[in-house]
Amino acid sequence: MAEIPDKFDAIVIGAGPAGSASAYYLATKGFKVLVLERGRSPGSKNVFGGRVYVAPLKEIFPDFEKSAPIHRWVTRERMSFMHGNELVSLDYEGNDHKSFTTYLSQLAAWMALKAESAGASIVSDITVTGLLKEGDKVIGIKAGNESVKADVVIDAEGVNRLVLESTGLVQALKPSQVALGVKEVVKVNPEVLANEFGLGEGEGMAWSLMGDVTSGLPGGGFIYTNKDSVSIGLVMLLDSAISGANDEVYKYVERLKTHPKLSKYFKDSRIMEYSAHLIPEDVSSLMPPRLAYDGLLISGDAAGFLLNLGYTYRGVDFAAYSGYLAGKAIEQAHGLGGMSAANLLVYTKLLDQSFIMKNLKRFSGTHKLMRNRRLFTAYPAMMASLMRHIYSLDYESQKMFNTVLGSAKENGMGPFTLLTDGIEVMRYL
Ligand SMILES: Cc1cc2nc3c(=O)[nH]c(=O)nc-3n(C[C@H](O)[C@H](O)[C@H](O)COP(=O)(O)OP(=O)(O)OC[C@H]3O[C@@H](n4cnc5c(N)ncnc54)[C@H](O)[C@@H]3O)c2cc1C
Repeated sequence: MAEIPDKFDAIVIGAGPAGSASAYYLATKGFKVLVLERGRSPGSKNVFGGRVYVAPLKEIFPDFEKSAPIHRWVTRERMSFMHGNELVSLDYEGNDHKSFTTYLSQLAAWMALKAESAGASIVSDITVTGLLKEGDKVIGIKAGNESVKADVVIDAEGVNRLVLESTGLVQALKPSQVALGVKEVVKVNPEVLANEFGLGEGEGMAWSLMGDVTSGLPGGGFIYTNKDSVSIGLVMLLDSAISGANDEVYKYVERLKTHPKLSKYFKDSRIMEYSAHLIPEDVSSLMPPRLAYDGLLISGDAAGFLLNLGYTYRGVDFAAYSGYLAGKAIEQAHGLGGMSAANLLVYTKLLDQSFIMKNLKRFSGTHKLMRNRRLFTAYPAMMASLMRHIYSLDYESQKMFNTVLGSAKENGMGPFTLLTDGIEVMRYL
């Protein structure tokens, strides 16, 4: 790090969506910012499924749509329950531009470039190994034997957060707090996107799947259509994957691509990329006890800011917006006279007023639903048998109510279980 000056206004750990959003905001306000990224370049270590909600990003980067790597606007949503060779799907075709598909590697690189163009210094291939402290105050970072000072450090190192752990600010991750996500990006024939997915120019699909996709383990599958490729993968609670997975997790993705009802979407496809990453799951237990310390703010996945509702994942917009709010908090603390914990507390106020904390509070118990195994076993099976009884008939048609109860019974559930599970789902979602 010889060429790096030894003092900055702010140092950001990690050039993911959270880190680059902070760096961009602070640089546009004239702060001297250094971003340190352990990957070979910004974007090289970032993994996600495929869809980003655009509104928060447009607020952070007003010219977002002009140059950001938007692959396709999601105009088609599909939610499927998989049981054996049967697939029950709910399909929604809209036409607004609220979310888009992309590669996170491209989006993170684009965000880092925006920060750099605004004046931030970004140095890759450097792993921050700890925080530099003077008493309780954070005064910079350590990277191996070297150190760099700053008035404030923003920790945007993502879910693994080894820096925070080494400083004793958070405990080591437990398997029950996170999920494991695995993903392939596969090149597909453009005709497949048009004919099988039914997508027009620039239109995209976000598809979530539950049931046999994870062999009934808590979690689900996802498929997103990019410009000329498809992202396909699945997410499983880590502790369930460790104790219950009957195969290596990448084989589940392979099985998904070759499933009789899905293989047509992956005909002649070619793997371009394979990745795996952890995801915050039990968000409330993952959130550090404090988000603002003397000279330190925590944002993005490192702070546990992720919303998983089963049918959508929101991590990138949450991370980027929390990084942006960290930048705003630093600007305000600067106006108040410095980066003390008291001045930086404005960060938690900004978060509380934002969609991030409102959403996280609203859906605070959702991860508990993941522990109801019936949602991943009996219900997908019930949906399939319900459809079979309604549509697959020779002479007699059945009354819907009786068919629902009959399908539930076939899968080991009585009216009381349906009622209590229904109440639980309504309570948390
Ligand atoms: C399989 C999967 C599917 C997902 N699907 C979606 C989706 O469809 N939509 C969505 O919005 N979100 C999704 N997410 C969540 C989303 O990817 C994250 O919430 C988001 O990337 C968090 O951004 P971040 O900047 O906080 O962390 P990260 O993206 O993890 O970035 C952290 C950065 O810090 C760097 N770093 C870490 N430690 C150090 C260190 N010590 N020194 C220097 N640099 C360091 C890393 O290399 C990385 O570049 C998904 C996640 C996974 C794993």
